[in-house]
Amino acid sequence: MNALHLPTAYFIVGILYLCMPLAVWVVLRKHGIASNTLWCLGGLLFGLSLILLGMRGQWPNALTYHLAMGLLILGPMLRAAALRRELGRPLRWVWLGLVVTVYVAVFAYLHDVVHSDSWRFTWASLGAAASFLWLGLLARDLQMREKSVSAQWVCVAYLLLSVLIILRIPSVMGGLGQPKAMTSDPLSAVLIFWAVVTAIVSNIGFLGLFFERLNRHAFEAAQMQARQEEALGLSEQIAQLDRRRSMGEMAATLAHELSQPLTNIYLITDRIETAQQQRQDDSLKVYLQDLHRNTQKASDILSRIRAFIEAKGRRFERLELQRVVADVNAMLGDLTHHGTLALQVTLPPQSLAVQADPVQLSQIFMNVVRNAIQATQGQALRQLHIRVWQEGAMAHISLTDNGPGLPDAVLSHAGTAFFTTKSDGLGMGLSISKTIAQQHGGSLSIGNSSTGGAVVELKLPVVA
Ligand code: ADP
Repeated sequence: MNALHLPTAYFIVGILYLCMPLAVWVVLRKHGIASNTLWCLGGLLFGLSLILLGMRGQWPNALTYHLAMGLLILGPMLRAAALRRELGRPLRWVWLGLVVTVYVAVFAYLHDVVHSDSWRFTWASLGAAASFLWLGLLARDLQMREKSVSAQWVCVAYLLLSVLIILRIPSVMGGLGQPKAMTSDPLSAVLIFWAVVTAIVSNIGFLGLFFERLNRHAFEAAQMQARQEEALGLSEQIAQLDRRRSMGEMAATLAHELSQPLTNIYLITDRIETAQQQRQDDSLKVYLQDLHRNTQKASDILSRIRAFIEAKGRRFERLELQRVVADVNAMLGDLTHHGTLALQVTLPPQSLAVQADPVQLSQIFMNVVRNAIQATQGQALRQLHIRVWQEGAMAHISLTDNGPGLPDAVLSHAGTAFFTTKSDGLGMGLSISKTIAQQHGGSLSIGNSSTGGAVVELKLPVVA
């Protein structure tokens, strides 16, 4: 232990206690933490007391004994005041002043009047141990309240320091050391070592406490923002559902109201036809038959709309996809005949059937084909490739066009009700098609093909 030059050791620990709080203070200064200055000041005073202790015998006793003891207790007290402030329990300064005064007064009495080294040593040790114990307990309260790992380290460092100081009392009484602050017995060496560790751990721990808080606040702010965005998204969804519901109601009312005049038109056409027959006049026959057929068709469409809205009255039947594609081909008849659209169809060798409502299925194709025709408007030759194949239990029907495809921003919204990029668009085509596909136990998706155009893929469960 001779290698341990005690005044130097105390001086080094003292300097450490001076530097570390200053560094902490500089780092935390811009965060406006009220207890920062108290904590830093406490550390500085304690560091100063250690330097004074190291100067015993060289500097006047009033500095190295009385003042050193006063600072030794005042330093940890100020740190305790800082921690109490963080806990929301500010310290009464009168009490603090009283405790420090009594402590120094008793010390001075034992030193100057009683002249008892062992009593003076015991008193000084008890005071220091009690103040560190208090600091440790306050740090534990902070750790429990904030679940802070940094506060836990501060707590452990101070509690252990307090235990080591207490242990020195019986050790000195048992003759294993001298009743002085500076002795070179093994326990004192451990104590000095632990004082160094505490200087580092307590200051870094105090810093960590605030950085943990900052992180927590940032995390809470991010959580709050996420919740707000979620609420915003939800209210948008509700508004959209509301619009959908209103549109559904409007469509239902329209379908209901229009069926009456349509029936009347049908009957009037019938009467005109009968009158024409009675006059044996065939000149309007073709037009009247056309009128009949179209009125019937309009009435069919209306009853389909009502059935779709009321989600009943669907007529599911077994449909061969080869047949369905042939119907689409017929629908595009005019365009293909005039050579403005090249339709390519790839069908599976075996027949592939699905269970579906033919009217609703043709509604999907009408929507998708209409979009493809609009998208390929500027092309010298419009191309549409319809491909049908089977994958597991699902039939796949893809329609690929040679239009410009969908940019990312459009792709992420296409199929959402009311989303459209067209000045005259309703933004309902893909949305209704998706709903119909889902009602059939399948799905509908839109994306871009490798050649650049859009590709819509409809999947439906296969039936035997
Ligand atoms: P609408 O046709 O009334 O706009 P849709 O729901 O059918 O409503 O389509 C939504 C949007 O998806 C369209 O406005 C368009 O931007 C995009 N879209 C759909 N099909 C295609 C396609 N084949 N090529 C490029 N864009 C398409």
